[in-house]
Amino acid sequence: MSESLAPRAAALDAADELAGARKLFALDDAVYLDGNSLGALPAHVPDRIADVVTRQWGQLRIRSWTEGDWWTAPERIGDRIAPLVGAAPGRIVVGDSTSVNVFKAVVGAVRLNPDPARTDVLVDATTFPTDGYIAESAARMTGRRIVPVAPGELAGALGPATAAVLLNHVDYRSGRLHDLPSLTAAVHEAGALAVWDLCHSAGALPVGLDAHGVDLAVGCTYKYLNGGPGSPAYLYVAQRHQAAFDSPLPGWTSHEDPFAMSHAYTPAGGAVRGRVGTPDILSMLALEAALDVWDGVSIDTVRAKSLALTDFFLECVAAYVPEGRVTSLTPAAHAERGSQIALRCDEAPRVMDELIARGVIGDLRRPDVLRFGFTPLYVGFADAERAARVLAEVLSEQPRD
Ligand SMILES: *Cc1c(COP(=O)(O)O)cnc(C)c1O
Repeated sequence: MSESLAPRAAALDAADELAGARKLFALDDAVYLDGNSLGALPAHVPDRIADVVTRQWGQLRIRSWTEGDWWTAPERIGDRIAPLVGAAPGRIVVGDSTSVNVFKAVVGAVRLNPDPARTDVLVDATTFPTDGYIAESAARMTGRRIVPVAPGELAGALGPATAAVLLNHVDYRSGRLHDLPSLTAAVHEAGALAVWDLCHSAGALPVGLDAHGVDLAVGCTYKYLNGGPGSPAYLYVAQRHQAAFDSPLPGWTSHEDPFAMSHAYTPAGGAVRGRVGTPDILSMLALEAALDVWDGVSIDTVRAKSLALTDFFLECVAAYVPEGRVTSLTPAAHAERGSQIALRCDEAPRVMDELIARGVIGDLRRPDVLRFGFTPLYVGFADAERAARVLAEVLSEQPRD
């Protein structure tokens, strides 16, 4: 093994303006590189949830819907997420899973672009599976057909038959970042609507939904936003589409006057019409509390650190791991990199088991990809160095029986 990069890591950590954020999280000595799958617990969340359960639910009971502001939580928390993804207030509503919001967004996009000559819904061929399954069903239900397209070939696939396009901002497997501004512009040039899935970018890098004219977007909150397991997802509806957005799941909580209990449905104005039914308050308020860690944090600073961390991790891997044992699937170019590094590796399942046993927590995407997510709020440069060093150790040992 070559010279240790630990002193460099220490110097980088000492100069890191986000280093102080780590103490906001409940972490142990492990190197946690799975924040792209389940973000770590912000340390103050358990007390906040205990208050919601014992005081709001336990004592105020039904009054909490109004006095505890439970009713407005989906919009209020949407406004907390908005600055992280470049949206003005009133454009994001929180609730349901990402899968369900993909359904609302794809059907909604087709209904906003109803020309019957626009028969196609294009979907990222490498997408996270749920997006593909749901888009296929949404296309079938709206009388459209699904056309899988590699993101790099999108320009050639767009045309007068395209109704809508569903794309992932960052590929969950490879960590490749797609160019949201130029792809959105190309989709619009073809007269279609762009729906973006931000699961692997929100909280890790600037998105600029309003600035780049994105039509609709969805994302989860339990990855880089640390909202907790199964925390509710969100739906973004561009202001210019809000009056016409026709949700395929119009529930009573998206009615303009829910307590009129009317049999005729009249949608509320704004992003609120993306609501469906009663929100899951415990998860929702855990997410709201978790978002406190972003107070005073600039997403540009987060992005700068994310790139520095992934650069440094790749440098450590190159220095420590014998040539040819791993290959990065994540682009080297910053403009094409999200906040994770995916390494292709023979015997990846054994290697990841060993890494986890030695306190380096990443994950495996079968058959042969090791994924390492870098969450700038709580991962440091010493963590990156240790992860690469332990990876080199594991690879230098013989496989066990
Ligand atoms: C994590 C992720 C999801 C998860 O969807 P759920 O409905 O929360 O299970 C969906 N799409 C992408 C691209 C993801 O990365």
